[in-house]
Amino acid sequence: MTKQQAEKKTVKFETEVSKLLDIVANSLYTEKEIFLRELISNSSDACEKFRYESLSNKDIENKDPFKINIHIDKKNKTLSITDNGIGMNEEDLQLNLGTIAKSGTEEFIKKIGDKKGDISQIGKFGVGFYSSFMVADQVLVRSKKYNSKIGNQWISDGKGTYSIEEGDYKKRGTEITLSIKKDDIDFLEKMKIEEIIKKYSDFVPIPIYLTSSEDKKEEKDKNEQINSAEAIWLKDKSKIKNEDYEAFYKQGSSYYDNPLKVIHFKAEGVVNYSSLLFLPKSQPHDLYHPDRKNKLKLYVNKVFISDKLESLIPAWLRFIPGVVDTEDLSLNISREVLQNNAIIQKINKGLTKRILKEIKELKSKNKEGFLEFWKNFGAVIKEGLYEFNDTHDQIFEFAVFNSSEDKNLITLEDYISNYSNDKKKIYYISGENKDNLLNSPQMEYFKKEKINVLLITDPVDEFWMPMKNKFKDYEFTSITKGEIDVKDHEKNTKENKNDKEDENFIIHLKELLKDKVKDVKISKRLTSSASCLVADENDMDMHLKKLMAANNQNVNDEKRILEINSKHDLVIKMKSLKKEDKDKYSEILFDHAKLMEGENLDDPKKYTNLISELVSK
Ligand code: ADP
Repeated sequence: MTKQQAEKKTVKFETEVSKLLDIVANSLYTEKEIFLRELISNSSDACEKFRYESLSNKDIENKDPFKINIHIDKKNKTLSITDNGIGMNEEDLQLNLGTIAKSGTEEFIKKIGDKKGDISQIGKFGVGFYSSFMVADQVLVRSKKYNSKIGNQWISDGKGTYSIEEGDYKKRGTEITLSIKKDDIDFLEKMKIEEIIKKYSDFVPIPIYLTSSEDKKEEKDKNEQINSAEAIWLKDKSKIKNEDYEAFYKQGSSYYDNPLKVIHFKAEGVVNYSSLLFLPKSQPHDLYHPDRKNKLKLYVNKVFISDKLESLIPAWLRFIPGVVDTEDLSLNISREVLQNNAIIQKINKGLTKRILKEIKELKSKNKEGFLEFWKNFGAVIKEGLYEFNDTHDQIFEFAVFNSSEDKNLITLEDYISNYSNDKKKIYYISGENKDNLLNSPQMEYFKKEKINVLLITDPVDEFWMPMKNKFKDYEFTSITKGEIDVKDHEKNTKENKNDKEDENFIIHLKELLKDKVKDVKISKRLTSSASCLVADENDMDMHLKKLMAANNQNVNDEKRILEINSKHDLVIKMKSLKKEDKDKYSEILFDHAKLMEGENLDDPKKYTNLISELVSK
């Protein structure tokens, strides 16, 4: 040892580092707690590096299992992170912790060169360590490199200079001691630290232990590993048991049951990432809560980045929990930048495609499971059809609907191939529930003619169907709106029946109900009921209007069209009445139609009185 080496050296940080320290401490990170994530990540890397070194260099013995110890010293107000990784010598300390241009990780990658390493590396980043100055007014690094005889120490208050000197650190690896700032002493609470470890570093592949100067004997004896230490998503699928997936699913998400399907894959190409996703069996309680964002966690090389990244997966897949881990991003990238990041967008596309493919497969392989899944999440997935995106065809491959002619749920493809109609239309009717819809007066003609009608009970369908307008070349057509295009033979017979008496009665009703309805027509859709209401062709559909009104949305107050069944006994009777009786009783037809829509009458008593009078007449 030369005299010079033993001396304490005080060195100025590179200008860039000084600047960086300022930025890191003040603006780059909003959540201070991530300093621990960074330090743990460095320790874990150091272990990974040493693991590699010992694999490629037979002279090195690696007896001790890797571990990271975190210790809270309440009295001295310090928090230390210790690892038995590769360690740093004087030069490393200076290079790695004094300059940013030369990241040790980058050097290491160069060293690995073409030998395709089995080690996952944190590259590119190079600022993590400095985040410790967010919570510490002094940082002491004591370290001994695996191939050094002596230890060294690095110390700084993060304000322009650091000093390096030989130290008495004897163990291989590094110990980083943070003197916690006055305002941040909550980082000396064991519970809090444990929480942070679990939150950010649970799957760091090296075991993490936590001790405190205040630990009682039992706690010391117990000293359990805090993290689960497994980046299960990076493991070989064949080595993962179902129970492992299930445990990970329950721990990482807010689901308590087992997942319906595990989706575990690695994407390689333009972007590289590994992903472990789940199709859940049950609905999360906040599925429709406006604050609910997605449940996907983004990792960069096993280091947790965010579970709030909205651009990672479409909102209509917000119920999919899991993990995405990529090496293609840098760790210190800010949330705002991530949100519009091109790599994230590519991952989003890849994940979406994959999930939809898996749902389709679920439908073909596990019908029962799929139907349960669809019941829970179908309406959410269909939000994707209300957006302009390129997933619609994929969604249509499995999206199923109730219909009037089929007791099973059918896809749109089933509809057009099994129930094709010459009008090239996909008929639908919307409302609260399937049975009521089946019994609607507007369904009568379609039931008689056995024309299949989709029974729509998910409000979302009422939004995307009119917007999308067509499936293949079949037009979505509401049967409670506008004219219906009846079969040609029907057309002739119906039109012939539209005789003088009918015409006069219509004129009469139009005048009588002019404040209540937009128009009165002889119905082509009624076969057994006396009357019904429909929306005019270009107006908002009736049920949609009710939905919007119920949600306090502004809707135009368009009146509806009253259709009457001229062959119905009640109508026949009315047509035969004297003018003043017609005036008196015709209102029944409007009230009757309202009742069929499940609406309240303005004057129910008057309605029942009129009915009984008419019957006894
Ligand atoms: P990054 O880890 O992203 O490169 P950091 O600023 O966090 O950036 O760390 C800089 C470098 O310091 C690391 O690349 C590594 O070489 C070295 N280093 C940090 N912590 C440790 C540690 N616990 N053991 C060994 N080397 C470390």
